[in-house]
Amino acid sequence: MIRVYQQETLDLFDLVKDVVKDSFSLVAQNQRHITLPESSYNPLRQQYDAAAILHDIAAKKDKDVDYKLCLVNVDIYAQNMNFIFGLANPIRKTAVVSTYRLNGDNIKERIAKEVVHEIGHLLGLGHCVNDKCIMHFSNTVKDTDQKEQIFCKNCRKQIE
Ligand SMILES: [Zn+2]
Ligand SMILES: [Zn+2]
Repeated sequence: MIRVYQQETLDLFDLVKDVVKDSFSLVAQNQRHITLPESSYNPLRQQYDAAAILHDIAAKKDKDVDYKLCLVNVDIYAQNMNFIFGLANPIRKTAVVSTYRLNGDNIKERIAKEVVHEIGHLLGLGHCVNDKCIMHFSNTVKDTDQKEQIFCKNCRKQIE
């Protein structure tokens, strides 16, 4: 089971539920809306630290859960990166995806892809050189649009 946390203004549970069922046969359960910890905001960058959000979600007590996924609509960053679409920690089995830079007509498709990508990391996959594979690293939404919502043969083999 994967527990889905989202920021107040987001309503993406149904989308995520279908995505995780189709891609991983995982059951999703909705959690009440969350507020991001103030400490995750970096006023110098005017962005939120994805690792701090991830840490906060990972620390929430939740006994029957295999994975946790947090959806936010703020701009997030990681060390040495201007921004990121998402971050995953396979050891803590927690991932965060931001919708902030995914806006456009196909925002739902982009969110679905980023969710599959981050869960791929939770299952132990790294980045893939195949630019059609969902585990290919996205630098821009163009990269996200270019990849397909499925794992290449090599990646698929590793999670089966
Ligand atoms: Zn990645
Ligand atoms: Zn791949």
